[in-house]
Amino acid sequence: MTSGLLNVKYFDLSSKGLIIKGRSVSDWARRVGRTPFYLYDSEVIYKKIAELRSVLPTEVSLHYAIKANPNLELVRFMAQNVDGFDVASAAEMHLAIKAGMNRTKISFAGPGKTDQELEQALLEHILINVESLNEVRRIAEISNRIGTKSPRIALRINPPYEMKSSGMRMGGGAKAFGIDSEQIPAVCQEIRKLNLKIEGVHIFAGSQSLSARVLSETFTSSFDLLNALKENFTQPLQSFNFGGGFGIPYFEGDPELDLVQVGDALRRLVKKFKVDFPNTEMILELGRFLVGEAGIFVCRIIEKKISRGQTFLVMDGGMNGHLAATGNLGQVIKRNFPIFVAAQLSSDFRETVSIVGPLCTPLDSFAQQIEVDCCSSGDLVVVFQSGAYGLTASPIHFLSHPPPLEIFI
Ligand SMILES: *Cc1c(COP(=O)(O)O)cnc(C)c1O
Repeated sequence: MTSGLLNVKYFDLSSKGLIIKGRSVSDWARRVGRTPFYLYDSEVIYKKIAELRSVLPTEVSLHYAIKANPNLELVRFMAQNVDGFDVASAAEMHLAIKAGMNRTKISFAGPGKTDQELEQALLEHILINVESLNEVRRIAEISNRIGTKSPRIALRINPPYEMKSSGMRMGGGAKAFGIDSEQIPAVCQEIRKLNLKIEGVHIFAGSQSLSARVLSETFTSSFDLLNALKENFTQPLQSFNFGGGFGIPYFEGDPELDLVQVGDALRRLVKKFKVDFPNTEMILELGRFLVGEAGIFVCRIIEKKISRGQTFLVMDGGMNGHLAATGNLGQVIKRNFPIFVAAQLSSDFRETVSIVGPLCTPLDSFAQQIEVDCCSSGDLVVVFQSGAYGLTASPIHFLSHPPPLEIFI
Protein backbone atom coordinates (compact mmCIF):
# COMPACT_ATOMS: atom_id res chain seq x y z
CA MET A 1 0.00 0.00 0.00
CA THR A 2 2.82 2.36 0.70
CA SER A 3 6.26 3.17 -0.50
CA GLY A 4 9.28 4.43 1.36
CA LEU A 5 7.18 4.71 4.50
CA LEU A 6 9.72 3.31 6.89
CA ASN A 7 10.23 6.74 8.35
CA VAL A 8 6.65 7.67 9.03
CA LYS A 9 6.45 7.10 12.73
CA TYR A 10 3.94 9.64 13.95
CA PHE A 11 1.03 9.13 11.56
CA ASP A 12 -1.43 6.29 11.57
CA LEU A 13 -1.41 4.40 8.29
CA SER A 14 -3.94 1.69 8.96
CA SER A 15 -5.64 -0.54 6.44
CA LYS A 16 -8.19 2.27 6.05
CA GLY A 17 -5.53 4.61 4.77
CA LEU A 18 -4.14 7.65 6.52
CA ILE A 19 -6.16 8.64 9.59
CA ILE A 20 -5.39 11.94 11.34
CA LYS A 21 -7.23 12.78 14.55
CA GLY A 22 -9.98 10.33 13.61
CA ARG A 23 -10.50 11.62 10.07
CA SER A 24 -9.31 10.33 6.74
CA VAL A 25 -7.08 12.52 4.65
CA SER A 26 -9.90 12.99 2.10
CA ASP A 27 -12.10 14.23 4.95
CA TRP A 28 -9.46 16.77 5.83
CA ALA A 29 -9.16 17.76 2.18
CA ARG A 30 -12.93 18.37 2.01
CA ARG A 31 -12.74 20.53 5.14
CA VAL A 32 -9.84 22.60 3.84
CA GLY A 33 -11.68 23.13 0.56
CA ARG A 34 -8.84 22.99 -1.91
CA THR A 35 -5.51 21.37 -2.58
CA PRO A 36 -2.58 21.62 -2.21
CA PHE A 37 -2.41 22.24 1.52
CA TYR A 38 -0.18 21.67 4.50
CA LEU A 39 -1.59 20.04 7.61
CA TYR A 40 0.29 20.33 10.91
CA ASP A 41 -0.71 18.01 13.74
CA SER A 42 -0.19 19.51 17.20
CA GLU A 43 -0.28 16.06 18.80
CA VAL A 44 2.85 15.03 16.92
CA ILE A 45 4.70 18.17 18.03
CA TYR A 46 3.53 17.56 21.56
CA LYS A 47 4.89 14.00 21.44
CA LYS A 48 8.23 15.15 20.04
CA ILE A 49 8.64 17.71 22.80
CA ALA A 50 7.63 15.18 25.45
CA GLU A 51 10.08 12.57 24.12
CA LEU A 52 12.83 15.14 24.11
CA ARG A 53 12.09 16.51 27.57
CA SER A 54 12.10 13.01 29.01
CA VAL A 55 15.80 12.63 28.15
CA LEU A 56 16.97 16.25 28.46
CA PRO A 57 18.63 17.37 31.71
CA THR A 58 16.16 19.66 33.48
CA GLU A 59 18.77 22.44 33.53
CA VAL A 60 18.64 22.74 29.75
CA SER A 61 16.02 25.09 28.31
CA LEU A 62 14.38 24.30 25.00
CA HIS A 63 14.04 27.00 22.36
CA TYR A 64 12.20 26.80 19.05
CA ALA A 65 13.84 28.31 15.95
CA ILE A 66 10.87 29.94 14.23
CA LYS A 67 12.30 29.86 10.73
CA ALA A 68 11.62 26.09 10.56
CA ASN A 69 7.89 26.88 10.49
CA PRO A 70 6.51 30.35 11.20
CA ASN A 71 2.81 29.44 10.89
CA LEU A 72 1.10 31.68 13.47
CA GLU A 73 -1.08 29.02 15.06
CA LEU A 74 1.84 26.61 15.25
CA VAL A 75 4.05 29.30 16.80
CA ARG A 76 1.27 30.08 19.33
CA PHE A 77 1.22 26.40 20.24
CA MET A 78 5.00 26.38 20.57
CA ALA A 79 4.86 29.45 22.82
CA GLN A 80 2.92 27.32 25.31
CA ASN A 81 5.22 24.33 25.08
CA VAL A 82 8.84 25.51 24.81
CA ASP A 83 10.91 27.89 26.93
CA GLY A 84 11.91 30.43 24.32
CA PHE A 85 12.13 31.37 20.65
CA ASP A 86 15.01 32.08 18.31
CA VAL A 87 14.17 34.45 15.51
CA ALA A 88 16.09 35.46 12.40
CA SER A 89 14.32 38.63 11.22
CA ALA A 90 12.32 41.51 12.67
CA ALA A 91 9.15 39.97 11.24
CA GLU A 92 9.86 36.70 13.07
CA MET A 93 10.53 38.72 16.21
CA HIS A 94 7.12 40.42 15.99
CA LEU A 95 5.53 37.04 15.30
CA ALA A 96 7.20 35.61 18.41
CA ILE A 97 5.84 38.47 20.52
CA LYS A 98 2.38 38.21 18.96
CA ALA A 99 2.34 34.46 19.68
CA GLY A 100 2.72 35.28 23.34
CA MET A 101 6.36 34.49 24.04
CA ASN A 102 7.92 36.48 26.87
CA ARG A 103 10.31 39.06 25.35
CA THR A 104 13.10 38.02 27.70
CA LYS A 105 12.99 34.54 26.14
CA ILE A 106 13.46 35.64 22.55
CA SER A 107 16.85 35.87 20.85
CA PHE A 108 17.57 37.34 17.43
CA ALA A 109 20.35 35.86 15.24
CA GLY A 110 21.35 36.49 11.63
CA PRO A 111 24.47 37.80 9.88
CA GLY A 112 22.72 40.69 8.11
CA LYS A 113 20.42 42.50 10.51
CA THR A 114 19.53 45.93 9.15
CA ASP A 115 19.65 49.11 11.25
CA GLN A 116 15.85 49.11 11.25
CA GLU A 117 15.78 45.54 12.56
CA LEU A 118 18.33 46.31 15.26
CA GLU A 119 16.34 49.35 16.30
CA GLN A 120 13.16 47.28 16.60
CA ALA A 121 14.98 44.61 18.60
CA LEU A 122 16.39 47.29 20.92
CA LEU A 123 12.97 48.86 21.40
CA GLU A 124 11.48 45.46 22.26
CA HIS A 125 14.45 44.74 24.52
CA ILE A 126 15.21 41.45 22.74
CA LEU A 127 18.52 39.60 23.12
CA ILE A 128 20.56 40.23 19.96
CA ASN A 129 23.05 37.54 18.95
CA VAL A 130 25.72 39.75 17.41
CA GLU A 131 27.66 38.29 14.51
CA SER A 132 30.42 40.88 13.98
CA LEU A 133 32.20 43.71 15.76
CA ASN A 134 30.69 46.17 13.34
CA GLU A 135 27.23 44.99 14.30
CA VAL A 136 28.09 45.74 17.94
CA ARG A 137 29.16 49.25 16.90
CA ARG A 138 25.92 49.77 15.01
CA ILE A 139 23.96 48.60 18.06
CA ALA A 140 25.85 51.07 20.29
CA GLU A 141 25.15 53.90 17.85
CA ILE A 142 21.46 53.13 17.40
CA SER A 143 21.03 52.59 21.09
CA ASN A 144 22.56 56.02 21.83
CA ARG A 145 20.41 57.66 19.18
CA ILE A 146 17.09 56.23 20.36
CA GLY A 147 18.06 56.30 24.02
CA THR A 148 17.55 52.64 24.95
CA LYS A 149 19.08 51.61 28.21
CA SER A 150 21.45 48.65 28.32
CA PRO A 151 21.12 46.86 24.98
CA ARG A 152 20.97 43.10 25.42
CA ILE A 153 23.66 41.36 23.39
CA ALA A 154 25.05 37.85 23.12
CA LEU A 155 28.13 36.92 21.09
CA ARG A 156 27.55 34.41 18.34
CA ILE A 157 30.85 32.58 17.99
CA ASN A 158 32.02 30.90 14.78
CA PRO A 159 33.84 27.88 16.19
CA PRO A 160 36.99 26.41 14.63
CA TYR A 161 35.19 23.07 14.15
CA GLU A 162 32.01 22.09 12.37
CA MET A 163 29.38 19.46 12.88
CA LYS A 164 30.41 16.49 10.80
CA SER A 165 28.07 14.95 8.24
CA SER A 166 25.32 17.42 8.93
CA GLY A 167 22.95 18.56 6.23
CA MET A 168 24.13 22.16 6.28
CA ARG A 169 27.33 23.27 7.90
CA MET A 170 27.13 26.60 9.59
CA GLY A 171 30.30 26.75 11.66
CA GLY A 172 34.01 26.19 11.19
CA GLY A 173 36.34 27.67 8.60
CA ALA A 174 35.49 30.96 6.95
CA LYS A 175 31.81 31.69 7.53
CA ALA A 176 29.35 34.57 7.33
CA PHE A 177 27.91 33.45 10.66
CA GLY A 178 29.23 34.57 14.01
CA ILE A 179 32.53 36.02 15.17
CA ASP A 180 35.60 33.83 14.64
CA SER A 181 36.54 32.33 18.01
CA GLU A 182 40.12 33.65 17.76
CA GLN A 183 38.75 37.20 17.49
CA ILE A 184 36.71 36.91 20.67
CA PRO A 185 39.34 38.38 23.05
CA ALA A 186 39.77 41.51 20.90
CA VAL A 187 36.03 41.86 20.33
CA CYS A 188 35.32 41.55 24.05
CA GLN A 189 37.79 44.37 24.73
CA GLU A 190 36.11 46.59 22.15
CA ILE A 191 32.73 45.84 23.67
CA ARG A 192 33.98 46.88 27.08
CA LYS A 193 35.22 50.15 25.59
CA LEU A 194 31.73 50.72 24.20
CA ASN A 195 30.38 50.21 27.73
CA LEU A 196 28.21 47.33 26.64
CA LYS A 197 27.57 44.21 28.63
CA ILE A 198 27.81 40.72 27.13
CA GLU A 199 24.80 38.81 28.38
CA GLY A 200 25.32 35.50 26.66
CA VAL A 201 27.07 33.34 24.10
CA HIS A 202 25.62 31.50 21.12
CA ILE A 203 27.27 28.73 19.09
CA PHE A 204 25.43 26.99 16.27
CA ALA A 205 27.61 24.44 14.51
CA GLY A 206 25.28 22.60 12.13
CA SER A 207 21.93 21.13 11.28
CA GLN A 208 20.10 17.88 10.40
CA SER A 209 22.40 15.44 12.18
CA LEU A 210 21.10 11.94 12.87
CA SER A 211 24.16 10.85 14.83
CA ALA A 212 24.10 11.06 18.63
CA ARG A 213 27.86 10.65 18.62
CA VAL A 214 28.42 13.58 16.26
CA LEU A 215 26.04 15.76 18.26
CA SER A 216 27.75 14.90 21.57
CA GLU A 217 31.17 15.59 20.08
CA THR A 218 29.98 18.93 18.75
CA PHE A 219 28.38 19.97 22.04
CA THR A 220 31.50 18.87 23.93
CA SER A 221 33.63 21.05 21.65
CA SER A 222 31.27 23.99 22.17
CA PHE A 223 31.28 23.68 25.95
CA ASP A 224 35.10 23.37 25.86
CA LEU A 225 35.37 26.42 23.62
CA LEU A 226 33.27 28.50 25.99
CA ASN A 227 35.44 27.39 28.88
CA ALA A 228 38.60 28.31 27.01
CA LEU A 229 37.22 31.80 26.37
CA LYS A 230 35.90 32.24 29.88
CA GLU A 231 38.40 34.87 31.07
CA ASN A 232 37.22 37.27 28.36
CA PHE A 233 33.86 37.59 30.01
CA THR A 234 34.29 39.91 32.95
CA GLN A 235 30.70 39.51 34.08
CA PRO A 236 28.94 36.17 34.59
CA LEU A 237 27.08 35.01 31.49
CA GLN A 238 23.33 34.70 31.85
CA SER A 239 22.89 32.30 28.96
CA PHE A 240 24.78 29.89 26.77
CA ASN A 241 22.89 28.84 23.65
CA PHE A 242 24.85 25.82 22.43
CA GLY A 243 22.85 25.27 19.24
CA GLY A 244 21.08 22.08 18.27
CA GLY A 245 21.10 20.48 14.87
CA PHE A 246 18.97 17.42 15.75
CA GLY A 247 17.84 15.83 12.50
CA ILE A 248 14.83 13.78 11.44
CA PRO A 249 14.86 10.78 9.09
CA TYR A 250 13.69 11.73 5.61
CA PHE A 251 14.85 8.96 3.36
CA GLU A 252 14.75 5.20 3.27
CA GLY A 253 17.57 3.88 5.41
CA ASP A 254 17.95 7.06 7.50
CA PRO A 255 18.32 6.09 11.16
CA GLU A 256 16.35 7.77 13.91
CA LEU A 257 18.40 9.97 16.22
CA ASP A 258 19.21 8.13 19.47
CA LEU A 259 17.77 10.63 21.95
CA VAL A 260 18.77 8.67 25.03
CA GLN A 261 22.40 8.81 23.98
CA VAL A 262 22.20 12.56 23.31
CA GLY A 263 20.54 13.05 26.70
CA ASP A 264 23.30 11.11 28.47
CA ALA A 265 25.99 13.18 26.77
CA LEU A 266 24.25 16.40 27.74
CA ARG A 267 23.89 15.27 31.33
CA ARG A 268 27.67 14.77 31.53
CA LEU A 269 28.32 18.18 29.98
CA VAL A 270 25.81 19.96 32.21
CA LYS A 271 27.37 18.50 35.32
CA LYS A 272 30.78 19.89 34.42
CA PHE A 273 29.39 23.16 33.13
CA LYS A 274 27.55 23.97 36.36
CA VAL A 275 30.86 24.01 38.23
CA ASP A 276 32.39 26.69 36.01
CA PHE A 277 29.21 28.57 35.11
CA PRO A 278 26.84 28.10 38.04
CA ASN A 279 24.44 30.87 37.04
CA THR A 280 24.36 30.45 33.29
CA GLU A 281 21.23 29.10 31.62
CA MET A 282 21.95 26.45 28.99
CA ILE A 283 19.79 26.62 25.88
CA LEU A 284 19.16 24.03 23.19
CA GLU A 285 17.65 25.53 20.04
CA LEU A 286 15.79 23.29 17.63
CA GLY A 287 13.62 23.81 14.58
CA ARG A 288 13.20 20.84 12.29
CA PHE A 289 13.35 18.20 15.00
CA LEU A 290 10.31 19.62 16.81
CA VAL A 291 8.01 20.24 13.85
CA GLY A 292 9.33 18.42 10.77
CA GLU A 293 7.51 15.16 11.35
CA ALA A 294 4.27 16.89 12.34
CA GLY A 295 3.47 18.20 8.89
CA ILE A 296 2.11 16.65 5.71
CA PHE A 297 1.72 18.21 2.27
CA VAL A 298 -1.46 17.10 0.52
CA CYS A 299 -1.92 17.39 -3.24
CA ARG A 300 -4.44 16.11 -5.76
CA ILE A 301 -3.60 14.17 -8.88
CA ILE A 302 -4.62 16.30 -11.87
CA GLU A 303 -3.39 14.06 -14.66
CA LYS A 304 -2.28 10.47 -14.92
CA LYS A 305 -0.39 9.92 -18.12
CA ILE A 306 1.89 7.46 -19.75
CA SER A 307 5.00 8.54 -21.61
CA ARG A 308 6.97 5.92 -23.48
CA GLY A 309 5.94 3.21 -21.09
CA GLN A 310 6.36 5.20 -17.85
CA THR A 311 3.42 6.37 -15.78
CA PHE A 312 3.39 9.92 -14.43
CA LEU A 313 1.12 11.32 -11.75
CA VAL A 314 0.91 15.08 -12.22
CA MET A 315 -0.22 16.82 -9.03
CA ASP A 316 -1.60 20.28 -8.34
CA GLY A 317 1.17 20.89 -5.78
CA GLY A 318 4.76 21.31 -6.83
CA MET A 319 8.16 22.65 -5.96
CA ASN A 320 6.60 26.12 -5.81
CA GLY A 321 4.73 24.97 -2.70
CA HIS A 322 7.25 22.51 -1.29
CA LEU A 323 10.75 23.03 -2.60
CA ALA A 324 12.50 20.74 -0.12
CA ALA A 325 10.51 17.65 -1.10
CA THR A 326 11.65 18.03 -4.69
CA GLY A 327 15.26 17.92 -3.57
CA ASN A 328 15.96 21.51 -4.52
CA LEU A 329 16.70 22.86 -1.03
CA GLY A 330 20.24 21.84 -0.26
CA GLN A 331 20.05 18.12 -0.92
CA VAL A 332 23.17 16.62 -2.46
CA ILE A 333 21.61 13.52 -3.96
CA LYS A 334 18.00 13.60 -5.08
CA ARG A 335 16.08 11.14 -2.93
CA ASN A 336 12.37 10.77 -2.29
CA PHE A 337 10.56 12.05 0.77
CA PRO A 338 8.14 9.41 2.08
CA ILE A 339 5.05 9.58 -0.11
CA PHE A 340 1.64 7.97 0.17
CA VAL A 341 -1.05 7.80 -2.46
CA ALA A 342 -4.53 7.80 -0.95
CA ALA A 343 -6.49 6.00 -3.65
CA GLN A 344 -10.26 6.38 -3.32
CA LEU A 345 -11.02 3.03 -4.88
CA SER A 346 -9.23 0.33 -3.00
CA SER A 347 -7.37 -1.95 -5.31
CA ASP A 348 -5.23 -4.98 -4.83
CA PHE A 349 -3.01 -3.78 -7.61
CA ARG A 350 0.15 -1.77 -7.35
CA GLU A 351 1.83 0.21 -10.07
CA THR A 352 5.12 1.96 -10.63
CA VAL A 353 4.86 5.70 -11.14
CA SER A 354 6.80 8.94 -11.13
CA ILE A 355 5.18 11.78 -9.19
CA VAL A 356 5.62 15.34 -10.41
CA GLY A 357 4.25 18.81 -9.76
CA PRO A 358 2.45 21.08 -12.26
CA LEU A 359 5.37 23.32 -13.18
CA CYS A 360 7.01 23.40 -16.60
CA THR A 361 10.41 22.32 -15.35
CA PRO A 362 11.97 18.90 -14.85
CA LEU A 363 13.07 20.09 -11.38
CA ASP A 364 9.46 19.78 -10.25
CA SER A 365 9.62 16.11 -9.37
CA PHE A 366 8.80 14.37 -6.07
CA ALA A 367 9.46 10.70 -6.81
CA GLN A 368 10.85 8.63 -9.61
CA GLN A 369 9.56 5.16 -10.35
CA ILE A 370 8.08 4.26 -6.99
CA GLU A 371 5.47 1.63 -6.34
CA VAL A 372 2.07 2.85 -5.14
CA ASP A 373 -1.53 1.63 -5.01
CA CYS A 374 -3.27 1.87 -8.36
CA CYS A 375 -4.81 5.32 -8.46
CA SER A 376 -6.47 7.79 -10.77
CA SER A 377 -6.79 11.52 -11.26
CA GLY A 378 -8.68 13.09 -8.38
CA ASP A 379 -6.92 10.92 -5.80
CA LEU A 380 -4.80 12.52 -3.09
CA VAL A 381 -1.06 12.26 -2.61
CA VAL A 382 0.51 12.88 0.79
CA VAL A 383 4.13 13.93 1.28
CA PHE A 384 5.30 13.27 4.84
CA GLN A 385 8.07 14.97 6.87
CA SER A 386 6.80 18.30 5.60
CA GLY A 387 6.41 20.28 8.81
CA ALA A 388 9.72 22.15 8.59
CA TYR A 389 11.16 24.25 5.77
CA GLY A 390 8.04 23.67 3.69
CA LEU A 391 5.82 26.55 2.60
CA THR A 392 8.05 29.44 3.66
CA ALA A 393 11.17 27.83 2.20
CA SER A 394 9.51 27.56 -1.23
CA PRO A 395 9.41 29.84 -4.29
CA ILE A 396 5.63 30.32 -4.10
CA HIS A 397 5.57 33.03 -6.79
CA PHE A 398 7.26 30.85 -9.40
CA LEU A 399 4.63 30.31 -12.16
CA SER A 400 2.04 32.34 -10.21
CA HIS A 401 -0.12 29.53 -8.86
CA PRO A 402 -2.07 30.23 -5.66
CA PRO A 403 0.06 29.25 -2.65
CA PRO A 404 -0.83 26.13 -0.64
CA LEU A 405 -3.19 26.59 2.31
CA GLU A 406 -2.16 25.61 5.83
CA ILE A 407 -4.12 24.11 8.68
CA PHE A 408 -2.96 23.52 12.19
CA ILE A 409 -5.01 20.99 14.09
C1 LIG B 1 18.21 27.48 11.20
C2 LIG B 1 18.72 27.64 12.56
C3 LIG B 1 18.26 26.80 13.58
C4 LIG B 1 17.30 25.67 13.34
O1 LIG B 1 17.90 24.62 12.68
P1 LIG B 1 17.16 23.20 12.57
O2 LIG B 1 18.04 22.37 11.73
O3 LIG B 1 15.83 23.44 11.95
O4 LIG B 1 17.01 22.67 13.95
C5 LIG B 1 18.73 27.03 14.84
N1 LIG B 1 19.61 28.02 15.10
C6 LIG B 1 20.07 28.85 14.14
C7 LIG B 1 21.02 29.91 14.48
C8 LIG B 1 19.65 28.68 12.84
O5 LIG B 1 20.12 29.48 11.88
